[in-house]
Amino acid sequence: MVIIMLGAPASGKGSVAEILSKEFGIPQVSTGDIFRKYISNGSEIGKKANEYMTKGELVPDEVTVQIVASRLEEPDVENGLILDGFPRTVNQAKALDELLAKKGKKIDLVINLEVPEEELLDRITTRRICTNKECKAVYNLKLHPSKVEGICDKCGSTLEQRDDDKLEKAKNRLIVYHRETAPVADYYKDTGALYSTTLSVSINRMKDEVAHDVIEYLKK
Ligand SMILES: [Zn+2]
Repeated sequence: MVIIMLGAPASGKGSVAEILSKEFGIPQVSTGDIFRKYISNGSEIGKKANEYMTKGELVPDEVTVQIVASRLEEPDVENGLILDGFPRTVNQAKALDELLAKKGKKIDLVINLEVPEEELLDRITTRRICTNKECKAVYNLKLHPSKVEGICDKCGSTLEQRDDDKLEKAKNRLIVYHRETAPVADYYKDTGALYSTTLSVSINRMKDEVAHDVIEYLKK
């Protein structure tokens, strides 16, 4: 089974993917994780991706697609996977269809998590991350605060707001997301694989409900 998770930053797609991964016994594969893996194992394709990332540039579609293609060759995804954060553009979506077709596979479901923009901004700007590089625990001032304000529950280090999570940058990330990824949802709408749903209110309660709805939908 091949499932694609679409959703803006802070939409909760990673959390929903995690639940579905356990339910269906297939791995959750995020592009961030694949990139880190291929960069740390010193592969040629990883080096290429790293060149762009260290310059703070977007990794071009063809490099991203090659990395995903290598990942699809690994034995643990033989029975399927949940892709989280890929495809990000229509070109990547088309390339993915070709890669899967070569392996005799197709996308079974594309889940598009829609969250109102104001709520996304609220979730992003209230996020706080532990400054201890070994810990990196994530908190949220409203949904999941630390016991002592500004201090990590797990390791006692101070918490900080990532630069990317500050209001102006967060707004910009959402603009980029909508510009690039809204057409991806339309692309899948045309292929008939799209399942759109809203993940709103309190993410901690709703993500279980959304995952449950998706499981019921797939069983039909
Ligand atoms: Zn910590």
